[in-house]
Amino acid sequence: MNAVNQHVLATDLGGTNIRVALVDQLGNISYRNSTETLSDRGIGDVINRWTDALKHVMDSVDTKAVIGLGVAFASPIDHQTGVVYNPPHLSNWDGFSPKSILEQNLSMDVTIGNDASLAVFGEYLYGAGRGFKNMVLLTIGTGIGGGIVMNGEVYVGHRGFAGEIGHIVIDKNGPLCDCGVRGCLQSMCSGTAISRIANEMLTSEKCTILRDDGCDNQLPVTAQMVVKAARAGDGFATTILDKVARNLGIGIAGLIQIFDPEIIIIGGGISSEFDLLHSGILKSVDMNIYPHLRGVVPVVKAERGDDAGMLGAAALMFRDKGIEIGT
Ligand SMILES: [Zn+2]
Repeated sequence: MNAVNQHVLATDLGGTNIRVALVDQLGNISYRNSTETLSDRGIGDVINRWTDALKHVMDSVDTKAVIGLGVAFASPIDHQTGVVYNPPHLSNWDGFSPKSILEQNLSMDVTIGNDASLAVFGEYLYGAGRGFKNMVLLTIGTGIGGGIVMNGEVYVGHRGFAGEIGHIVIDKNGPLCDCGVRGCLQSMCSGTAISRIANEMLTSEKCTILRDDGCDNQLPVTAQMVVKAARAGDGFATTILDKVARNLGIGIAGLIQIFDPEIIIIGGGISSEFDLLHSGILKSVDMNIYPHLRGVVPVVKAERGDDAGMLGAAALMFRDKGIEIGT
């Protein structure tokens, strides 16, 4: 293995935050910073602040050791041209190439990829996926995303759109999702879905601390409030999370049947509450899968959190430069 003497400047531009970091071949982060994206201020303003944040890192380190910039971007992306298409949280960036602009502004080589795919790559190389060649990651937060690693490579599909795990339909009579269909995983198991289910069910439920001052007595009820109530032993909140775990298990069972992975990894904001969902997910997987696959595939929590996208972006640059990536 190469000595650890090379670094990649890595960044993750999402709808909420711009993150920057300095990453070595082993996935160690020696510098990090973040600032709000504030996309409503316009592309020019975001690009300027993004460039400043990246230059600030370069001003603070030995730049000779930095081989390039790896970018994780929250959008479908043409990997060759770096052009982004219909970013869901950055609508006015459609058709734009952040790669070209950053190359000009920073005078360094830039690689760019979809944030979810790169988060899978990061978790595969430097997180809970270490040592496995076939895995599926679900990122569960406000929405549900994810990605697939097959035979050691991120599987992006024929057109590059594979891994939209949040939009697998599990109940055709379920709630309508932003994607235009009913009953997909995102519409039934995301943080947004937990909040919606709680508020719908609360109208007929009297006996829950979500109605009491103990849980702030605020409406609408958020996913965080449901989790807090479940941790306090509230039966109503626990019922909601059991239902979510059951539905997640149906989706995960389908993923196991299709991909036969060695491991399923759960990331995103909900992963910090993974212990509340874990046994419910496993039970539901076993109820919805071939008998010979029952109990075979571990479902575990992601390890690298919000850093996974930047780690994947850094790894992409190391690989493009032919530098061996350690684990
Ligand atoms: Zn959907």
